[in-house]
Amino acid sequence: IRTIGILTSGGDAPGMNAAIRAVVRSAIYYGCKVYGINRGYKGLIEEDLVEMNLSSVGDIIHRGGTILKSSRCEEFKTEEGRLQGVKILKKHNIDSLVIIGGDGSFIGAQKLSELGFPAIGIPGTIDNDLPYTDYTIGFDTAMNTIIDAIGKIRDTSSSHERVNIIEVMGRHCGDLALYAGLAGGAETIIVPEVDIKIDEICTKLKTTQKRGKRHSIIVLAEGVGNASDLGKEIIKKTSADLRITVLGHVQRGGSPTAFDRILASRMGARAVDLLLDGKSARVVGIKDNKIIDLEINEALSKTRSFDKDTYEMVKVLSI
Ligand code: ATP
Repeated sequence: IRTIGILTSGGDAPGMNAAIRAVVRSAIYYGCKVYGINRGYKGLIEEDLVEMNLSSVGDIIHRGGTILKSSRCEEFKTEEGRLQGVKILKKHNIDSLVIIGGDGSFIGAQKLSELGFPAIGIPGTIDNDLPYTDYTIGFDTAMNTIIDAIGKIRDTSSSHERVNIIEVMGRHCGDLALYAGLAGGAETIIVPEVDIKIDEICTKLKTTQKRGKRHSIIVLAEGVGNASDLGKEIIKKTSADLRITVLGHVQRGGSPTAFDRILASRMGARAVDLLLDGKSARVVGIKDNKIIDLEINEALSKTRSFDKDTYEMVKVLSI
């Protein structure tokens, strides 16, 4: 009998639970046993695991976060730590592992495979920063959380004729800022992929103000810098009445959207199919609405192409 282990690792993302549910349910459907490993690679090394059954994943498809908890684990970056992990997996007769997480977690999965232990990765991160897949689990929910916040800030921004800077997550990847900014009708979007000068932002503010538009929304991806510094610069140059909102961890929580639940379910089912086909060192993704899988190394070697067309279009629409 096959025994599959499952863990969530790195930053949590809404929809991880739906992915866990899909893995557990399809594995059991095909006659496998499943162990849930708590707190990512850290819990693996510390032997914090429990056998899961159909009801272990009941009533979780709609819940944010991850029932298996998540963590970052420095020890797993060492060969010694990983060998300890494999020892524990073998002790419980676990013969393969599904890892839900971001690129760091995938490197862990790759290294496990190199030790001869089959591992499959599922992309769970709100940032959408994995180039091989159109979407990662959690991105859509986080984007909708941001849109909701922009809508609320827009109401008060408009009443008081203020400029509002909204800082969103995204260290290297501006997708959350770009798409939430577009959908929220932001005037300016600042992302790590595009260099934008402070003077350009201020000129735009002044021009729109001259036209009689007195409120403005600026969406800033955290990787570019912090909202408070940017705010001070803008006030210095424009004397705008300006407020700042740093959305922070609210973006990581909440009930997953239908899109994320469906994506997570499809990816979870594919991960089990791959393991049952004897595959290892692969990650699941989505391209043109088709679930795909490819080698972890190949997936991680791809470089991101920023959606410049949409970025330019936003400039036109927010003239
Ligand atoms: P997020 O996108 O949310 O940051 P992530 O999976 O990229 O998620 P990381 O903190 O980079 O988050 O990685 C999660 C865990 O994966 C690390 O704490 C570590 O245990 C493991 N990991 C990361 N890099 C490596 C590596 N080079 N070798 C082995 N394991 C690694």
